[in-house]
Amino acid sequence: MMMQSDSRIFVAGHRGLVGSSLVRGLQRKGFTNLLTQTRAQLDLSDREAVAKYFEETKPEYVFLAAAKVGGILANDTLPADFIRDNLDIQNSVIEASYQVGVKRLLFLGSSCIYPKACPQPIREEYLLTGPLEQTNRAYALAKIAGIEMCWAYNRQYGTKYLAAMPSNLYGPGDNFDLQSSHVLPALIRKAHAAKKSGSEFVVWGSGKPQRELLYSDDLADACLYLMSSEDALFDTLLKSDEPPLINIGAGSDVTIRELADLVAKVVGFEGAMIFDASKPDGTPKKLMDSTRMRGLGWAPKVGLEDGIRSVYEMVKNELD
Ligand code: GDP
Repeated sequence: MMMQSDSRIFVAGHRGLVGSSLVRGLQRKGFTNLLTQTRAQLDLSDREAVAKYFEETKPEYVFLAAAKVGGILANDTLPADFIRDNLDIQNSVIEASYQVGVKRLLFLGSSCIYPKACPQPIREEYLLTGPLEQTNRAYALAKIAGIEMCWAYNRQYGTKYLAAMPSNLYGPGDNFDLQSSHVLPALIRKAHAAKKSGSEFVVWGSGKPQRELLYSDDLADACLYLMSSEDALFDTLLKSDEPPLINIGAGSDVTIRELADLVAKVVGFEGAMIFDASKPDGTPKKLMDSTRMRGLGWAPKVGLEDGIRSVYEMVKNELD
């Protein structure tokens, strides 16, 4: 069954980049019965606590947007945290969803689940066809386990759990901490600081890797579209002979150097840019093929420069 305006909808991770976009989108579309829990209220990695919460609140639809996430350096240096926390969270939420008969669940992952040397653009069926990128292997494996769990539950229990794989994301409410953030908020913060102090703008790696960046509100639109779709459509995405997986990307990518140039333009930084080769590049390119999602009628609305501009406008006063 598709979501109705009074359906009980649990957004796990509602304070994060994706979860907060989902909540905004749900509210805008008139969904009135949203369930959210802060980390202090409910530790999503605690299986018993999650089971109890689900028993008490009986959600009908679940957006599983809670995860331990971070940029290339955090993933590379804290792999144990990334695999443990993500497995714990998804195991708790998926099992609790099954126990209370959740009608649909959407599990959010990332394009790093695909092999490092994948043909581009990356189609859903390339999952598990080759070795992973080393810098985020632990995170990717947890997410692959989550996809497999959705599929296994669907086959064994007849559930309707779908896994959505977004490209790299950015948007309001992003993490701007330079040690743990993803590339775009880091570049915004660094270009802003370099402009103020007249120093150099330091970009990690070679500048050559390519990344596909999607605005978080565009991802949220796609997720709401999927969860609000008719059964006839949703069920076509849950094939029994392949993982229930759908890519959600912007459709084009840029090099990190191009991204840094764009950020410099938006921020108004005109000084020198240097590349710190002591930092990792990660995957050379991970552009997804989002034909399946586009075929349903969804398309991203926010262009990269406009998106960077609106994020910068929202945060620039807090960056000083
Ligand atoms: P990834 O997509 O999993 O590799 O994650 P990131 O968003 O952290 O990094 C994407 C690319 O941007 C990598 O090639 C990084 O080396 C590069 N990059 C350049 N400067 C930065 C920075 O200041 N922070 C981060 N996180 N990445 C940067």
